Amino acid sequence: MNLVIVGSVALDDVKTPLGEVKNALGGSAVYSSLSAQYFTQAGVVGVVGHDFPENYLQTLAARSIRLEGLEKAPGETFHWAGYYEYDMGSAKTLDTRLNVFAAFDPKIPSAFKSVPYLFLANIDPELQTKVLNQITRPRFTLLDTMNFWIETKREALLAVFPRVDMVVVNDAEARQLAGTPNLLQAARWIRNHGPRGVIIKKGEHGALLFWENEIAALPAFPLDTVRDPTGAGDTFAGGFIGALAGSPDLTMDNFRRAAAMGTIMASFTVEDFSTRRLEGLSEEEIRARYRALQKISELKDFAGDFSSNGR
Ligand code: AMP
Repeated sequence: MNLVIVGSVALDDVKTPLGEVKNALGGSAVYSSLSAQYFTQAGVVGVVGHDFPENYLQTLAARSIRLEGLEKAPGETFHWAGYYEYDMGSAKTLDTRLNVFAAFDPKIPSAFKSVPYLFLANIDPELQTKVLNQITRPRFTLLDTMNFWIETKREALLAVFPRVDMVVVNDAEARQLAGTPNLLQAARWIRNHGPRGVIIKKGEHGALLFWENEIAALPAFPLDTVRDPTGAGDTFAGGFIGALAGSPDLTMDNFRRAAAMGTIMASFTVEDFSTRRLEGLSEEEIRARYRALQKISELKDFAGDFSSNGR
């Protein structure tokens, strides 16, 4: 197995201007593993409660996502409720019930312990640390988080930073973490706290990728219809690290390709509620969007001259 993902496995209540779902399949580990499995074999570490529907487990197992690290505990599954306003820019959390995650003590299956790629998806940073303590340092570790943990577990979160290679956050989280409105300064602040790289997602405005002294800017894939942005960030991160795990080495070109793939995968997720759209994509659908994004991003050399104004 090539990639281990630790994160939330959730039942989500989500309302957007285009509809509503209750107890839908969600969670950071779910979106990211469903995205990553198109490119590499992934295993999930997490916990569900007695109320987690069997058909949701089937959705993951049917895609060869390894579930021996997914514990079933007495109690209720992690539950998140949120909504989006007209512009669907950012989720407003109504309720976060950790339930079985509050007492979760991850035990990493032996087959997961020397995995080359690790994604510490959005979950309590203390759980992220417990996972790191049980495995050999992977070739590449990516860490995600959110405002909830920045506000409630800041110290624990900053303690994980030196142990990972790259952090992925959205623009608001980057500003909140670093205490600066400027995203370049925020990326530098994060890198000064340990990781060699940072990705800052800007929703419908794309993403910035920083790796050592290089920067890449990616547009988002333009879409006609966005029904539910939930999971876009997790899907991006899963597609990114999945594609990276399938590439030969950690060069800037491969980071760019992987981030473009993350962008493409997120563009599918937001077209429908929950994981519906992400579940049954064909390789050709994914490749076609990748080619379209390549075309949108193409920037030729500047062909004009600066002398035509009489200078
Ligand atoms: P995003 O990719 O940021 O839209 O992530 C959406 C997913 O994050 C939802 O499916 C939620 O179940 C999950 N989620 C929301 N809050 C938390 C939290 N505090 N910790 C872990 N997962 C969360």
